Amino acid sequence: MSNRYPLGFFPTPVHKLNNLSRVYQPYEIYIKRDDQTGLASGGNKTRKLEYLLQEAFDQECDTIVTAGAQQSNHARQTAAACAIAGLECHLLLKGEAPGQPNGNLLLSLILGAKVHYAGEKIRDEQVEQLMKDLFLLGKKPYFIPIGGSNPTGALGFVEACRELKQQLQQQDLKMDYIFFASCSGGTQAGLLLGKEKYGLEGTLMPVSIQKPELDETPLELLVLDIVNLAKPVTGIERVFLAEDLALIRGYDEAGYGVVTPQEKKAIHELARSEGIFLDPVYTGRAFFAMMDYLQKGLPEPGSKILFWHTGGLPAIFAYADKIQ
Ligand SMILES: *Cc1c(COP(=O)(O)O)cnc(C)c1O
Repeated sequence: MSNRYPLGFFPTPVHKLNNLSRVYQPYEIYIKRDDQTGLASGGNKTRKLEYLLQEAFDQECDTIVTAGAQQSNHARQTAAACAIAGLECHLLLKGEAPGQPNGNLLLSLILGAKVHYAGEKIRDEQVEQLMKDLFLLGKKPYFIPIGGSNPTGALGFVEACRELKQQLQQQDLKMDYIFFASCSGGTQAGLLLGKEKYGLEGTLMPVSIQKPELDETPLELLVLDIVNLAKPVTGIERVFLAEDLALIRGYDEAGYGVVTPQEKKAIHELARSEGIFLDPVYTGRAFFAMMDYLQKGLPEPGSKILFWHTGGLPAIFAYADKIQ
């Protein structure tokens, strides 16, 4: 697709985890390295931002506004994308200004983003006010939702399926299961569509990161919404059903951004077996879920398993006391 503004190095590598595969035999474990997209320490948001920034340019915008947690990887990659593209970057982040910024927040500030602190919860009115303020200053702001998860952002992961399919073909490989962390839904929506469009094999195993709250729209519905809105652009006609959206729940009980011994165990295990860092919020949780599935023998023995590494390394430093 030509509607992308280049920000990352693609294709990201896909390779076997030999040491880990020995531990979990007869499973064969592979990894897709979106922690290596090359944009300011990498991550899955790079793929979405290529499409989002192009859309911002198409609409002749000169300023980007996005929102997220203080340790948002999406905010950091957005700040980096804006630095490259020469756009002004405004980040509306949860909480209060910390004494000493760390992890992703520190990097976003180094990248030149203007950070606004939203307090306890990010409300729609705060976003609208910020957009209005920028408008009155003569800017043309373009809003990117939390996680870059909308139909435009999801196109990045439609394209990622074409990329992976081609890589696997070249290595004469087929995956049976694809584990990944799912939180704001754009990655999952894009993978669902791309898998269909390009005939990528393997069952998607999205691991829920954020515990579902009663007063919030369930992630399944957010994903379905993005899928349905992006369908016409991708030319896919298939109707997606509840079973297509099935999330792996139960590893999200501690809540978003709460690091438990499970994430710590996953981070240590992959680092010490393969020299690869997971992050404490997303990939640590998803990788723990995958290890748990393999230990319980849930996928058929002998299956080829792919872990889609979505990045997040800088957050390790913000959770140092929970991980060491
Ligand atoms: C944002 C993020 C995810 C989740 O992707 P969504 O598209 O929001 O579901 C997973 N891993 C990392 C490291 C992320 O930053």
